[in-house]
Amino acid sequence: MEQPKCRFCGSEPSHQSIKGEYVFGGKPEQRFWKCNVCQIIYLFPPPSKEEELEFYKKEFEKYMETRSGGDKDWSSPEKHFDSNQNEARRRMAFLEPYLKKGQKALEIGCSSGFMLSALRDKGIDVFGIDPSEGFIEYVRSKGIYVYKNLEELKANHDIQFDLIIHYYVLEHIRNPVDFIKQCMKLLKSESKMVFEVPCATDPLVELYHVPAFDKFYWSVAHHWYFNRESLTVVLKKVDSKFALYPEQRYDLSNHIRWMQQGKPGGLGHYHRIFGDELDRLYKQKLKEHWLCDTIIALVEI
Ligand SMILES: [Zn+2]
Repeated sequence: MEQPKCRFCGSEPSHQSIKGEYVFGGKPEQRFWKCNVCQIIYLFPPPSKEEELEFYKKEFEKYMETRSGGDKDWSSPEKHFDSNQNEARRRMAFLEPYLKKGQKALEIGCSSGFMLSALRDKGIDVFGIDPSEGFIEYVRSKGIYVYKNLEELKANHDIQFDLIIHYYVLEHIRNPVDFIKQCMKLLKSESKMVFEVPCATDPLVELYHVPAFDKFYWSVAHHWYFNRESLTVVLKKVDSKFALYPEQRYDLSNHIRWMQQGKPGGLGHYHRIFGDELDRLYKQKLKEHWLCDTIIALVEI
């Protein structure tokens, strides 16, 4: 097998080791490699640009449906919107202190638009971008401007934003530093970008070492997996202030399901036994150790 140089920092092959043996949805020769210099985890060999375009145009929602285990419903935009209301509430808890009525916000990768609707309910003027054709008409039917890419948005609006958000997007982007720099150009001065990515020190990987999860986690849709250290390396290349926060989305019931059955799903399954307090405390302990499934980044200009 060809030993790569780091796709992010260019470090020599001798500093690279295999982190994910099995790439979900990938080709037999693909692996996720980890660079021991910058700590980034990357897909190698990467897909061609043509393969990637085709994937987002035609297959993305179907692919996600195979991964959700019933926690999120990707079968239609309406169901996706409804099954993400808890997720919208979780994300809003972080965003709310920064919001003021009348601000302009852009979400990149807006999917069924559940975050844009939640922001609009707070009096925010919202815009979306999504390269996938699956849900775009549904979002437009709610009177929200959605475009396929930044170029299309810029061609239609001469606009600067108070807030740019993207959730589980950066790991899909071939050149994450360029992407963040492009986003920052669309921000007004003294404004913010908030985003989330999966955290590579997920407890199912780094704490419990669940074999079935290891065959599921490393997704062909991702170029990168970030941890606290490597996301810091990425953001230091952007000339802005930033802070990273640990976050845990999945609960103890989901982790038990993985250990019992080796399958996704199970969110909230034992909630009637565990209750809110245990759920909160469990997540808090994982976050304290950065053995958590999500990183929230706040970037300020
Ligand atoms: Zn590297």
